[in-house]
Amino acid sequence: MLSETILEMKDISKSFPGVKALDSVDFKLRKGEIHALMGENGAGKSTLIKVITGVYEKDAGLITLYGEPINFKTPEEAQNKGIGTVYQEITLCPNLTVAENMFIGRSHSPVIKWRQMNEKAAQLLDSLGIPASPIQELASCSLAVQQMIAIARAVDMDCKILILDEPTSSLDEDEVQKLFTLMRELKERGVGIIFITHFLEQVYEISDRITVLRNGKLVGEYETISLPQIELISKMLGNVLEDITTLKKHGPIVFDTSTPVFEGKGLSSTAGVRPFDFAIQKGEVNGFAGLLGSGRSESVRAIFAADKTTGGEVRMKGKRVKIKTPLHAMKQGIGYLPEDRKGDGIIEDLSVRDNIILALQVMKGFFKPFSKNQAQIFADEYIGKLNIKTPTANTPIKSLSGGNQQKVILARWLLTNPEYLILDEPTRGIDVGTKVEIQKLVLNLAASGMSLTFISSEIDEMIRTCTRLIVMKDREIVGELRGSELTESDVMTVIAQGGRTHE
Ligand code: ADP
Ligand code: MG
Repeated sequence: MLSETILEMKDISKSFPGVKALDSVDFKLRKGEIHALMGENGAGKSTLIKVITGVYEKDAGLITLYGEPINFKTPEEAQNKGIGTVYQEITLCPNLTVAENMFIGRSHSPVIKWRQMNEKAAQLLDSLGIPASPIQELASCSLAVQQMIAIARAVDMDCKILILDEPTSSLDEDEVQKLFTLMRELKERGVGIIFITHFLEQVYEISDRITVLRNGKLVGEYETISLPQIELISKMLGNVLEDITTLKKHGPIVFDTSTPVFEGKGLSSTAGVRPFDFAIQKGEVNGFAGLLGSGRSESVRAIFAADKTTGGEVRMKGKRVKIKTPLHAMKQGIGYLPEDRKGDGIIEDLSVRDNIILALQVMKGFFKPFSKNQAQIFADEYIGKLNIKTPTANTPIKSLSGGNQQKVILARWLLTNPEYLILDEPTRGIDVGTKVEIQKLVLNLAASGMSLTFISSEIDEMIRTCTRLIVMKDREIVGELRGSELTESDVMTVIAQGGRTHE
């Protein structure tokens, strides 16, 4: 049984100088559905949202809400008709209380008195299962809870449509699950939710339907369960699909095992991985697979000495070396792109150029800074090589898109010319086009003789890129798969069957 259509958009067009952001797009939202709006960066998703909510005026087309034509001139009008919107950046006031953030500044605020406001906030928080007190300062809540409070503010009592434009970008796995619980609760109440995210696995976890846009045009509308992930990607990317399906592992599957580029025996760290052996050959790409928390990141951090090492013997090209600090590792020709781009990777306030030269500068020593000219030459070289989209090398890195920030961090490590490069989740949270570019880059680097470790939560991505997968569970290695054995279900089987037999 099809449920009722709440919102219908027909033949919507919107142009900006020089770009047709929306070209005759149709979109339908039903009652009680979670509808993922998908498309690469620049596809027109945010513009479509802004046309609904009255931020932009459409050039052409018709929008109906419950069959009535609408044409909101301001976001407040949309909010008053029960359309709530939450953007990626939380736009609340950190110094105000939770309740104040929920009600203050609302054009039809239902409350005047403080106590009444707090009571009302308590009710709403409770009914939505949000773990916060009305009187606590917003800043004292976790990011996820703040995000939920933004939603609580948006949903109002009689919200009919909730729009979430990339709300999960800065949330961790637990926080995402809390947000999903809230979304499911609202769905139960009949709210229609438009959900924009770069995380494909989230789309498959939570959405009922998917609408795909590409270059401002509608590609189609699909039931989530009947659209395989690879097809979704191909619809988002269009002709680039060729690249992704033919993306092939270069190089030999069986490597010369005489002298590995890196060889570690009994590696361990304070982060608590079980002592493990690991070696990688020249030109090899290996991956560490396993569920979240299985010890993938802790293992590579032990290799790079990013966490304090507690044991192990390391050889580089057969020669015994000491790696006690990341700087030792770098000087031995190892590079490491950390999982947490925001926390460990980018330096927000520095320019693209300064972010690119950082690792090389660390190796050289901060007392011998590169000349501005030299830094510029390095930066320009890699902006070109990696196709980094930035106005200039001088632009602050924080104003770039996530995918381009990630390329800057990659450039930082490539500039050090490592023999062994570790990439921990380099494609997480970035657009599909850049993902494919990074996968291709990994294969090209391997073909040129670099050894790489490539970790991704998306197993299919590792399968396309790696010649060998090390499978981890509960902080130890439980299996290894290579070559033609590599399928997603094999990896799952090893994870399911693996585990400690000696306890
Ligand atoms: P998405 O959200 O899917 O990444 P957008 O809707 O933000 O895409 O952008 C669609 C296109 O419209 C892009 O080419 C973008 O550069 C352009 N665009 C969006 N907003 C504006 C604006 N305010 N002025 C000029 N161009 C814009
Ligand atoms: Mg957008």
